[in-house]
Amino acid sequence: MGMTEALRENLLHGQVAVVTGGGTGIGKIIARDLASHGARVVIASRNLERLEATAAELRALGGSVKAAACDISDPAQVKTLANAVLAEHGRADILVNNAAANFIWPSEKMTPVRWRKVIDIVLNGTFYCSLEFGSGMLAQSSGSIVNIVAAYAWTGAPGLAPSASAKAGVMALTRTLGAEWAGRGVRVNAIAPGPIDVPQTRERLWPTEEMRRKVLAGTPLGRFGSEEDVSALVLFLSSELGRNITGEVITTDGGQSLGRGALDMLGEIQKLRRKPAPASA
Ligand code: NAP
Repeated sequence: MGMTEALRENLLHGQVAVVTGGGTGIGKIIARDLASHGARVVIASRNLERLEATAAELRALGGSVKAAACDISDPAQVKTLANAVLAEHGRADILVNNAAANFIWPSEKMTPVRWRKVIDIVLNGTFYCSLEFGSGMLAQSSGSIVNIVAAYAWTGAPGLAPSASAKAGVMALTRTLGAEWAGRGVRVNAIAPGPIDVPQTRERLWPTEEMRRKVLAGTPLGRFGSEEDVSALVLFLSSELGRNITGEVITTDGGQSLGRGALDMLGEIQKLRRKPAPASA
């Protein structure tokens, strides 16, 4: 089958996908879209009640979605999850490491407990999941891991020291595992979203119209990203469409990392040029 024909076919038919943090926000839409393209999906996080409700909602759309409780910062729970997926489905083909937590806090006020909490979930949890599901993928000589990081991991971000550090660690892990497992059928990539408008960010990061306007003013495409902007890349990277890509981090941020400063300066220069030259005496 040609590459783009795969788009018309049932792209992920017969594949088993695990999405951590799949009960809410971006993870929920990733789970929905993987399922609608034919994958059997397991969503995993700590709050089983919320996961069950999401799984039921997504099953009502026609896909195969099941919920499993797992705190990814606990390696024993991750092992139990991997064994349960193996017992039920016999394999895992796609792992989306999406679960995360953060605290918005000036670094000098950060406590070691909070620091460890974020590192434990984002960096350590991603590693535990990659190890447990990755070893199954290596044994079957096929699989794809997609890590959801954040655009601010490229630069650092005021108030987000633990998250930015952990996500930068996950970027390094992506490249490392991408190289280590490339010859053994397993691809490892990451997606770095800029601002994505989900309930969690609306509540905590841009709760007022003024703050929303400020974020958009710094985004050349002038729009917030949506969950679908991330899930489209997950579909691409995790399927046959992304077969030639590994160890890569793809940013989806509306051009925010390009900065608005130079663009605004260009506008000012253009305005000056349009002004008539002062009349000579
Ligand atoms: P969200 O709705 O808060 O999702 C986070 C998920 O992680 C929740 O479903 C939560 O479920 C799960 N989780 C937290 N701790 C966990 C643990 N110890 N074990 C297992 N699951 C855990 O936020 P979101 O915005 O959709 O974020 C999804 C991903 O995108 C994250 O990696 C985030 O860093 C990244 N991202 C988001 C944005 C944005 O603007 N929204 C930008 C850049 C990157 P439980 O509470 O049930 O455990």
